[in-house]
Parts: sequence; C-alpha cells; structure tokens
Amino acid sequence: MVTRWEDIAGHDGQVAMLRTMLATGRVPHALLFTGPAGIGKMLAARALAAALLCGDGRDEACGACQSCRMVEQGTHPDFIVLTADGASLKIDQIRALQHEAALAPYYGVARVFLVEDADRLTTQAANSLLKILEEPPAGTIFVLTAVSQYALLPTIISRCRLFAFRPLAPDVLAGLLAARGAPAAAAEAAARLSGGRVAEALALLAEGGLARRDEAAALVAALPTGGAALAWTQGAALDKLEADELAAFLRHLSQVLRDLLVIASGREELVLNRDMAATLRGLAAHWDAPRLDAALRAVREAGRALEGNANTRLTCEAMLIHLQEAAKEGTRRADRRRNTV
Ligand SMILES: [Zn+2]
Repeated sequence: MVTRWEDIAGHDGQVAMLRTMLATGRVPHALLFTGPAGIGKMLAARALAAALLCGDGRDEACGACQSCRMVEQGTHPDFIVLTADGASLKIDQIRALQHEAALAPYYGVARVFLVEDADRLTTQAANSLLKILEEPPAGTIFVLTAVSQYALLPTIISRCRLFAFRPLAPDVLAGLLAARGAPAAAAEAAARLSGGRVAEALALLAEGGLARRDEAAALVAALPTGGAALAWTQGAALDKLEADELAAFLRHLSQVLRDLLVIASGREELVLNRDMAATLRGLAAHWDAPRLDAALRAVREAGRALEGNANTRLTCEAMLIHLQEAAKEGTRRADRRRNTV
C-alpha cells in the first residue's frame, strides 16, 4: 500500500498543515522534518510525496493510479530518496542529486527529493545542497529529515519550512497502540518505554520485543540472592550479545532499576514497565533509594565504557559485581528495617 496519512500515528497538527498545503497547491519547495528516529518523519515524507505525484492537487495519494503504484514499489522516477552512505551524506551524492534535479519531471507533475538524515551531511555536501535550495529548479520539492535542526547549517534551515515532530504523549500513544489491537497493559508499557516514539513502541509490542526487558528484570530479581558465580555467568552471557542488543539490554536494565526507584520513592504512577508493576513492587522491597542510585550509576558507567570500546566481558562483570553489592546491601538494610519495626 502506498503511504497514506492515516498510517501516521499522532502528529495531527503537522498532518493537517501538510494536507492544506497540498489542497491549496502551496507546498513549499523545501521542507525540513525534525524529530527523534522512529517518530513518523519518513512516513509523513512518503505520504506527502505520494500525494504530490498522484497529482491534481489532491491532499492524499489515491493509492490506485500508476504513479501511486510506482511510489509504493520504489520505482517512481520523480521520487528520489537519498540516504546516508555509511555515517555521512557525501558530496558525490549531492552532486548526483544536483544533476537529477536539473531534469524535468518524467510524468510532468513534480519531482520530489527526500534527503534522509540531513544532519549527516558533510560540510561540503551541505554547502552543495544549499546552492540547490537557493535556486530550486521549477517543480522540484525537497524534503529533508533530521533528528534535530541544530546539526544543520542555519542557511539550510532558513531555506526550509520547518515541521517539528515531537514524541507522542504516553497516554496518546498508548491509546493509538490499543486501538491497533495491543492489550492495554502492554500498550501502556510500550508507550512509556519507547519515550513516545511509535516505531520503537511497535517493535517492543512485536513478538519477542520485550525479551531483553524480561531478561533485565530477571537479572535484577536474581541479584539479592545470586551466588558469587552470577557475575561470571551473566557476564559471559552478555558478552555473547551483539553491540546493539547489549545496548538495548542495558537500557532496559536502567529502566527497570529506575522503576524500582520511583516505587521506593512512593511514586508508582511513574513506572514505565506498567505491565509488570506487581513484580516490580515485589523486587523493590529488597532495595532502597541510595542503593538504586548506586546501581543506576554502575549501569550508566558500563554503557559509557562500552561506547568507548572497553572490553565487553570485563566491563559487564564489573557492572554485575557493583549491582550485586548494591542489591545485597539494600537487602541487609531492608531486613534491618523490618526487624526494628
Ligand atoms: Zn494516485
């Protein structure tokens, strides 16, 4: 199916504005969509391109014509998508784009250039793109996407109509996920854990999407009673993960510990992992705020060390030893509190 506006979750204001521009024939020649990854910028860019190329001043692609079919298949000669080649968008790519932009539309309607991750343009490439934006060929429309506008040249930003896509409020996103069939507790958890990013929330809801989270919670549960071997066995298990899986595990581990901290502080309404609130309440009994702070610090330090290419196995073992010490101390204090009451 060609991308339609209804495929975009949330962002009602931005969508309404884009549709009005389409309906009135006032789409600016350069647009910049900013916002975190997985929030819907690309979907909006595709829906806009499909509607423009479908033609006749429609505010939405019909989904049935030849143009719509070509957009859907990624074969439309008037819809050119530029993605970063490795870590950056390079000058050669912009030169090729410049050459393409000089051509008249094949189907006589418009030419749409989608520059994904414009914040990865090299300085040279950015300056080259700026020249095109300053004198855009007739009938061409440029859509730039970027995580944030601050990595872009101010001169590029000033040429573009800015659309800021913000993370959805947890309640709004949870409602949208539930409307798509997710069970309420899981939708709430995914909405909160994703930080309001739709694609991330959907990935968490997919089968196995919460596996790393469940492993992180199981580790936290094992810490207070785990024997001396725990750091070595768990360290070895973490060492086997791919870098992005390990990063996801550490993120979930932080979020579980953070949930225990808000429970320990009497603010259970702030729990992210809503679907396992009862389990977390049980775990929180073994901890207190200072020990959770220490545990969170250990996870953060491990994350930083790994970003700096530290040895994975040794870093994870050191983190696990710190976590275990904090958990055991927390349990001792909790026991003492119970005994004195
Ligand atoms: Zn169409």
